[in-house]
Amino acid sequence: MHGSFPAPPKRSSFPIGPAAKAFKKRFFPEASAAEWNDWRWQARARIRDLAGLERIFTLSADERDAVGRRSGALPVGITPYYAHLLDREDATQGLRRTHIPTGEEFVKSPGEYDDPLGEDAHMPAPNLVHRYPDRALFLVTGFCSTYCRYCTRARMVGEVGGEWRFAVEDWQKAIDYIARTPVIRDILISGGDPLTISDDKLGWLLEKLRAIKHVEFIRIGTKVPLVLPQRITRDFARLLGKHRVWLSLHCTHPDELTPEVTEALDRLADRGVPLGSQTVLLKGVNDDVETMKRLMHGLLMRRVKPYYLFQCDPITGSAHFRTPVDKGIEIIRGLRGHTTGYAVPHYAIDAPNGGGKIALVPDYLEGREGDDILIRNFEGRLFRYADPGGTVGR
Ligand SMILES: *Cc1c(COP(=O)(O)O)cnc(C)c1O
Repeated sequence: MHGSFPAPPKRSSFPIGPAAKAFKKRFFPEASAAEWNDWRWQARARIRDLAGLERIFTLSADERDAVGRRSGALPVGITPYYAHLLDREDATQGLRRTHIPTGEEFVKSPGEYDDPLGEDAHMPAPNLVHRYPDRALFLVTGFCSTYCRYCTRARMVGEVGGEWRFAVEDWQKAIDYIARTPVIRDILISGGDPLTISDDKLGWLLEKLRAIKHVEFIRIGTKVPLVLPQRITRDFARLLGKHRVWLSLHCTHPDELTPEVTEALDRLADRGVPLGSQTVLLKGVNDDVETMKRLMHGLLMRRVKPYYLFQCDPITGSAHFRTPVDKGIEIIRGLRGHTTGYAVPHYAIDAPNGGGKIALVPDYLEGREGDDILIRNFEGRLFRYADPGGTVGR
């Protein structure tokens, strides 16, 4: 009998964590709890300009100047929910630097480009990047609920004249290309953020893609569950589950893992939506083993498998976020063997000019002595392993 266990509370609405509650009371007192928990209200109430920022944050002179100078390029956009995670006084706080512009954004360093991955040159249909043999990247919108200052696609999000510049006719051209290209068995839907699209429209797109026989695998890249968790309504989680979609979550720091995010990820996992994560390695934000370990553990506890740790792409004006590659190797070295294998992502560089993602791993192979290879474990101890007839390490 399970009668002695109380039934779980049937919560129809979303939780509001204590930190968000205090923030809402102070800066959005007129919003009801229902409005705050409505993703469309959050999207409408986004902080978009200097006045909106100054109402909440004490801006540094540099930030104020950078927000004022911005013209047409990557816009400012921060949901009220996400704003509660940014430090209101300290301009050096990691998460704040990822969302409030600074003057460094206007500095172009050697090796930086507006389209560092050469995506525009690999588009056989509008906004469809076909770079790998069996899979394609479908950029379905230029809209995001929050704009990360290190955005790889700064060139195509939020242009002057409105953020929604991708038309449904363009979608159809991309769908047609996929339908007549049988080698494509994997579609990565990204943008912009696809989860800012309405259930109806995204459901239509998923249905179209699912109807193509050779499309075996569909995943969506999104930051919405971290910056706008209220978007994950029960209906929406059911929609994704129904279409057997995987989600790749863009997450940055353990501070993002709030009660709201836990609820959103639970809803998705409970509906059978497999969850993976992608994190960009960012200087002064998450570039140490302890922070990264806390993030990866927090993700695993929420049923998210850490998938990629990316070196920050050389997008124009991003040098202040980029670490040397040594740092990424050091972080993987600090995770592998020291913690759960599931918690260790692949560290990858997306090679310039369309080379694709290249995974880098610390070198544990020391060399070969005759039929033996010499390999080093996570503690730095050397082991001998018999590998007769092999050649690696020679
Ligand atoms: C990242 C990416 C993919 C997916 O790569 P995986 O290694 O399978 O995750 C596909 N196409 C493009 C253009 C990409 O940038």
